[in-house]
Amino acid sequence: MAKYIFVTGGVTSSLGKGIFAASLAKLLQSRGLRVTIQKFDPYINVDPGTLNPYEHGECYVTEDGAETDLDLGHYERFLNTPTSQANNVTTGRVYQTVINKEREGAYLGKTVQVIPHITDEIKRRMMLLGESGKYDIVITEIGGTVGDIEALPYIETVRQIRWELEEHETLVCHLTLIPYLKSAKELKTKPTQHSVKELQTIGLRPDILVCRTEYPMTDEMRKKLALFCNVDKNSVIQMLDVDTIYAVPLEVQKEQLDDTVLRKLHLPNKKVADLAQWKKFLSKLRNPKGEVRIGLVGKYIELQDAYKSIHESFIHAGAANNLKVVVEPIHSEHINEKNVKQKLGHLHGILVAPGFGNRGIEGKITAIKYVRENNIPFFGICLGMQCAVIEYARNVLGMKTAHSTEMSPKTKFPVIDMMEEQKTIKKKGGTMRLGAYKCTLQKGSLAAKLYHNQNISERHRHRFEFNNLYLEQFEKSGMKATGRNPESGLVEVVEIPANKHFIGVQYHPELKSTVDNPHPLFVGLVKAAKEYKLSLVKPASKAK
Ligand code: GLN
Repeated sequence: MAKYIFVTGGVTSSLGKGIFAASLAKLLQSRGLRVTIQKFDPYINVDPGTLNPYEHGECYVTEDGAETDLDLGHYERFLNTPTSQANNVTTGRVYQTVINKEREGAYLGKTVQVIPHITDEIKRRMMLLGESGKYDIVITEIGGTVGDIEALPYIETVRQIRWELEEHETLVCHLTLIPYLKSAKELKTKPTQHSVKELQTIGLRPDILVCRTEYPMTDEMRKKLALFCNVDKNSVIQMLDVDTIYAVPLEVQKEQLDDTVLRKLHLPNKKVADLAQWKKFLSKLRNPKGEVRIGLVGKYIELQDAYKSIHESFIHAGAANNLKVVVEPIHSEHINEKNVKQKLGHLHGILVAPGFGNRGIEGKITAIKYVRENNIPFFGICLGMQCAVIEYARNVLGMKTAHSTEMSPKTKFPVIDMMEEQKTIKKKGGTMRLGAYKCTLQKGSLAAKLYHNQNISERHRHRFEFNNLYLEQFEKSGMKATGRNPESGLVEVVEIPANKHFIGVQYHPELKSTVDNPHPLFVGLVKAAKEYKLSLVKPASKAK
């Protein structure tokens, strides 16, 4: 029987509920427990797949093809275990299920209402992973902030679950902000007290109070918070601002969060935490032996969250190489033939990002031409790979107007074209080629060398693909398809073997990089960037 931990947030959004949930999960995992994390989002979209990255940051795709909240990325990166469709639920999905059931006649004769029908459906989904027998602990993060109208049915459901289960089977962790008032030189507990009060009026009493703070809290403050928020004194957990999110598990461990949780859930407290590998990673991250600069060419660069998994993958790959990776975001809309050298010339590697639509596309293609001609390490992901194909067609194969039919439906040279199975699809939500597919890598290719494997599986999110009608022409002139889907023949990886490091992939490797398993393609790019940097200072003949 699994136990359930609920994480709510108060005072303000963006406090790091996802990072807290992932950190707690990591600690419990390190104590030998099987843990999973799920997120309930109070918005009406059925999933975030149709949301603009400016609205919601990156859309994270699971193995089973769910388009989900980016917090699931943190869960996977921390725990090194995959999440699934069941790990992210939105209000839209809950209502969709209930309304479909109503149409089928499941509630015949009854008025369908938020309570009990919506809350029952939320409950069913909250308990689902726990009932699978695969987990000892299910952590459920409730999106939004306590007090939001949209979040009320979720809080009510948690209240009911707590009422139904034994006291030691559930826990509520409430994450709040302890603001520092500069003029008064003081940390303030009042907003936290108010937010706990708010939580209590809607029926929940937190067991553990997690306090996000810029400065350490005094003993006095902890006592005060415990007293006025109705929690034990050792259940006031400080979550201090730190230099990296990956330090948070250790920070909350110092606060004995894991011991407190185990005690409250009546779980054995024998196994000591095994965080050796985690600490090793942190130490490498904090003590780099050098630095490389990598350009991230994309069109959502104003917002870090839009490329969250890419940024995190570079952090993992940097540590694996004992290097600091400085990721320089470059707006693809601002790149043109005239300024491309000035924009990219100082970089040791370039990643061209995934994306949709026409905006910024020519800048991406111009950037790729520059890195290809100057033999700068290149890595293209999804649209980034497609741009590499278009660039090659235009500038090497002489197909001056080559394009993807996504941007130019009538192009004379559709080197990237819509996948056959996509052509009849009209609906936008959840209809791309999504989730994990197999790929076979060519022996001796750069990809096969980096993966140390020829049979891989990676996650996808796209409608367009390399047009195999042109494959022969590309291969003859030097751009090779080195990774293909074994069933459909779809091109998954392209390379230019004549270049030192030029690779584009149709899938999203960034979704599978974790602290324990940094992704080989990111590790490879950082290594290539390091070698490229060295080659700039040493005479070419001596460059390794
Ligand atoms: N827009 C492209 C497609 O749908 C690439 C998608 C992506 O970069 N995720 O195929």
